[in-house]
Amino acid sequence: MKGIVNFTPGPSQIYFTVEDHVRNAFREGIPSLSHRTKEFEKISMLATDGVKELLGIPSDFHVFFTSSATEIWERSIQNLVAHKSLHFVNGAFSKRYFEIAMQMGKTARKIEVPAGHGFSDNPDEADIELVALTHNETSTGVSLPMGFINQFRDQYPNALIAVDAVSSLPYPQFDFTKIDTLFFSVQKGFGLPAGLGVWIVNDRCIAKSEELLNKGISIGSYHNLPSLLQHAKKNQTPETPNVLGIYLLGKVIGDFLRRGIQVIRKETEYKAAILYQALSVHEKVSPFVVNPSDRSQTVIVAQSNEHTKAITQHLAATGLQAGDGYGEKKATQLRFANFPAHSKEQFEKLVDELGKFS
Ligand SMILES: *Cc1c(COP(=O)(O)O)cnc(C)c1O
Repeated sequence: MKGIVNFTPGPSQIYFTVEDHVRNAFREGIPSLSHRTKEFEKISMLATDGVKELLGIPSDFHVFFTSSATEIWERSIQNLVAHKSLHFVNGAFSKRYFEIAMQMGKTARKIEVPAGHGFSDNPDEADIELVALTHNETSTGVSLPMGFINQFRDQYPNALIAVDAVSSLPYPQFDFTKIDTLFFSVQKGFGLPAGLGVWIVNDRCIAKSEELLNKGISIGSYHNLPSLLQHAKKNQTPETPNVLGIYLLGKVIGDFLRRGIQVIRKETEYKAAILYQALSVHEKVSPFVVNPSDRSQTVIVAQSNEHTKAITQHLAATGLQAGDGYGEKKATQLRFANFPAHSKEQFEKLVDELGKFS
C-alpha cells in the first residue's frame, strides 16, 4: 500500500525508483518484448554485468536467471550432488534446503542448532559433495559470520560451497575464492516485485553438473547448468523468462551503483545498530538473537510476546508495517527487514515509535 513502509522481509518494501522504471518499461514495450531479440540481450547483459559489479563477482563466475530462490535450492542439489550434501540448519529456510535435498533422493546430512543460535560445532563428515549454507536465516534473524563460511574450503576441498544469501544481499561482501555458488531472489534486498531468482556459479559447478550428466544422472532439462551457460553466453535464456523482472533488476542495480555499495553497507549497519539498541533498552521487547555476533544486519527479529499485536497496531497507525514472526512465532515475535529500500529516516521513525510504546 502506498504511504506504508513495509518492514516484512519478503516480499518487502519496493525500492523507491521502481515505479518510474515500471512506467518506462511500459513506454518502451518491455512487457511484450520477445526474448529472442538483440534488445532483450542488452537488457540481460545490463542486469548480469550489474550483479557482477555490485557484488564484486570475479570473471570465472556466471550469472543465471531462474524463477525463484526455491527453484535454485532444487536446481543446485540436482546439478551439484550425486549422493551427499551437508546442511547447516538453524531455522525454516535452511531446513527447507535440507528437505529438498532429501526429496531429490540424496543422502542429506544436517548439523542443526536451535532457532536464534549460530553454529559452534562443525564435525567432519565423509564424502560431502556440497556444503549448503544459509547466510541469513530469515525466520530467526541469525546470520553466519564470514569466518564461518570461509572455513569450509579447507575443511572440504573437494566439495562445492553453496550460499543462500536471499535475505542479506546486496549487503554482504563474500570472498568468492571461498564459495562456489551464491543465490538470491529479488523481492527481498533488491526491493523488486517477486518472480525472479539469480543464480551465481563458478566453473567448478559447471564441471560438476557435466560430470553428473556424463554418469547418466538426471540434472533436469531446461534449467540445468550446461543449458543455462550455453544460453547465457549469448545473453539468452532457455525459456521465455521474466523479461520485465530482468529489466527492473538491471535498473535498480544501476541505482544502487550510483548510490554506492559502501554507502548502502554503512547505512545498513547504522539502521541495524539503532534498532538493536532500541530493542535492547526496551521494557517490553528484546532482540531475539542473544549473541551479538550471530545477529543479522538485514533481518532483525524482536521477541515481543504478549505485546506483539499491540505493537503491530501502534506501528501500523503511524504508517509502519512490522513483519510478523515466522511460522509458530507469528504471535510472539516481530521481524524488521533492513534493506536498501528502507531509509535511515524510516528506521529513525521506527525506533521513535517503538520507544513511545511502553
Ligand atoms: C525467501 C527466502 C527463500 C525463498 O525465496 P523465493 O523467492 O520465495 O523462492 C530462500 N532462502 C531464504 C533465506 C529466504 O529468505
